[in-house]
Amino acid sequence: MPLSKPPWLKIRFFESNHYSEVASKLRNYQLLTICVEARCPNRSSCWSEGTATFLILGNRCTRQCSFCAVAKGKPLPPDPDEPRKIAEVIKLLGTRYAVITSVTRDDLTDGGASAFATTVETIHQLCPQTLVELLIPDFQGSDKALNVIFDSRPQVIAHNLETPLNVYPFINRKEENYFCSLRIIKKAKEAGFITKSALIIGLGESREDLIKTMEDLVEAGCDLLTIGQYLQPTKQSRPVAKFYSPQEFADLEKEALRLGFKAVVSGPLVRSSYLAQHLFLKASSCAI
Ligand code: SF4
Repeated sequence: MPLSKPPWLKIRFFESNHYSEVASKLRNYQLLTICVEARCPNRSSCWSEGTATFLILGNRCTRQCSFCAVAKGKPLPPDPDEPRKIAEVIKLLGTRYAVITSVTRDDLTDGGASAFATTVETIHQLCPQTLVELLIPDFQGSDKALNVIFDSRPQVIAHNLETPLNVYPFINRKEENYFCSLRIIKKAKEAGFITKSALIIGLGESREDLIKTMEDLVEAGCDLLTIGQYLQPTKQSRPVAKFYSPQEFADLEKEALRLGFKAVVSGPLVRSSYLAQHLFLKASSCAI
């Protein structure tokens, strides 16, 4: 029997002028966002603040992670003009902090690393004031791909661990993926970047599992963390095992800070790019 949604997960939809501006620019430039493709519950509030997270390399993911709402299947070839279009929309919207992510593209020889790098470089050329956060896939652990990302010099490198290790088999991930993800964060830290990760909870993990996972992230050199509630994306997906209360999220935030993260956002509707600029500013002395 599926758990019924608690009242704190009721989402209020509203549209401001900013929301319509973001929506029309994305439509005119035929750009995708993870906000839409992952059916993010924060779309009203983020777009009304003029913030969206760009999704590059299409909307079909080559992996089958069962917690995620993004469509799976054979992707289309990348659009070589996508970096320019994203940079132009960022300029038109006056975005000072841009978050770029992609579906996982195991079909591409470089996993899409060069597309990420070209996007960062094009944004930096057209909008030199804009800081860029990249939320990257694991590139199957390729150091070559990671170096392409590092050379493009984004301000923040994010890579999501998603759940504790013992939950990986239930979300269709191999255990080796967990260690590959920790290694990516470690490499990014060693290369001098601000690093970030995200956990999605309510999939059957225990508090001890979460603490261990946060310890693993801190040990790898992860600076920033987001923690949010898993919401079952389709009827076929794994049901929600637990709805955490706002108080439990607040406790986890406190615990994460105690363990050594520089800044944490934790709450039922938090997603990895939620309040991204705010989180970055909390952890850095850089003024934007
Ligand atoms: S939290 Fe991120 S993905 Fe969700 S609406 Fe906001 S910017 Fe988009």
